[in-house]
Amino acid sequence: MSRVAFIGLGNMGGPMARNLARAGHEVIGFDLAPPARERARASGLQVADSLATALEKAETVITMLPAGPEVRDAYLAPEGILARVAPGSLLIDSSTIDVDSARLVHRHAAERGCAMVDAPVSGGVAGAEAATLTFMVGGEEAAFARARPLLEAMGRTVVHAGPAGTGQAAKICNNLMLGIQMISVCEAFALAERLGLAADKLFEIASRSSGQCWSLTSYCPVPGPVPTAPSNRDYQPGFTVAMMLKDLRLAQESAIRTQSATPLGGLACHLYALFANAGHEGLDFSAIIKMIAGEGKL
Ligand code: NAD
Repeated sequence: MSRVAFIGLGNMGGPMARNLARAGHEVIGFDLAPPARERARASGLQVADSLATALEKAETVITMLPAGPEVRDAYLAPEGILARVAPGSLLIDSSTIDVDSARLVHRHAAERGCAMVDAPVSGGVAGAEAATLTFMVGGEEAAFARARPLLEAMGRTVVHAGPAGTGQAAKICNNLMLGIQMISVCEAFALAERLGLAADKLFEIASRSSGQCWSLTSYCPVPGPVPTAPSNRDYQPGFTVAMMLKDLRLAQESAIRTQSATPLGGLACHLYALFANAGHEGLDFSAIIKMIAGEGKL
C-alpha cells in the first residue's frame, strides 16, 4: 500500500482517487478549484487545501489534469511537484497530453531522482467510476512495475507501451482511429437511410461483417441498436465533441512534428471543429451524425 497524493479531482480524477482509497491506499487529494475539492471531500476522500500539504508525505504522486500546459506547470513550476517531492518517489501522469510535454516532464523527473510513467486512460467517466479504465503506460520497466498495482486499483487493463511518452502516443493513435471510425459509421447510416435500408438491419449485418468496429457495436450513433449508447439519451456524453477534438488536435500536432501524413485524421479534426463551433461541443461525439446526415434526417 502506498501513500498517494492525487492532483486533479475533476470528472476523471475524483472517482479514480476514490477507487485507490477503496483499494486500501492512503490517498490525499488536491485540486486548484475549491468546488472540485468540496465535491471530493463530500464523496469521502481526504483532501488538502494546498499542493504542499498534499505532497508532504507522498510516496507516489498521480496527476489527472486537463492538458499539457497544466501538467508542465504542475510538475515544473518553482513551487510545483518536482520541487517538493522526495527523490525516489513514483510519479504517474494520467492526463492526456502531447508527447513532447510528457517527455519533458519525464526528463526533469529523472534529474530529480524520481521514477515516472505517462499513463493516459481510455474508458471515460464511467470507466473511472467502475475502475475499468484501460491504462497505456510509457516509461522504464522498473517504473512500470511500481505503477502497475496502483493502476490496477483504478482500471481493468494495464499495458506497458514502451519508453517515456509512448503511453501518450498510444492514446493519440487510438483516438485518431476512433474519431475517423465514428465518422465512417455515421456516413454509412446516413447513406443507408437514403437508400431505404433500415438502421437496425444495417446494424445487424455490419456488426457481423467487415464494417464491424467499436463505434458501431458499442457506441452506435443511431438510437436503438445499442441501448447503452449515448444516441439513446439525446447524445448526452459519454465522450464529448470537445474531448474528441482535443485528442484529434494532438494527433495533428504530432503528425506535423513527425512529418506524417494523416489526411483522414485532419479531415475528421475539421469536421468535429465545425460541429463544436456550431454549439455542440458538449454533446457526445457520436452526435456528429446530426451534421453528417443533416439535422433531423435520422
Ligand atoms: P476535468 O476538467 O473535469 O478535471 C481536471 C481538474 O484538474 C479540474 O478540476 C481542475 O481544477 C484541475 N486542475 C487544473 N490545473 C491544476 C493544477 N495545476 N493543480 C491541481 N488541479 C488542477 O477533466 P477530466 O474530464 O477529469 O479529464 C482529465 C484528463 O483526462 C484530461 O487530460 C482528459 O483529456 C483525460 N480524459 C478524459 C476523459 C473523459 O471522458 N472525461 C476520458 C479519457 C481521458
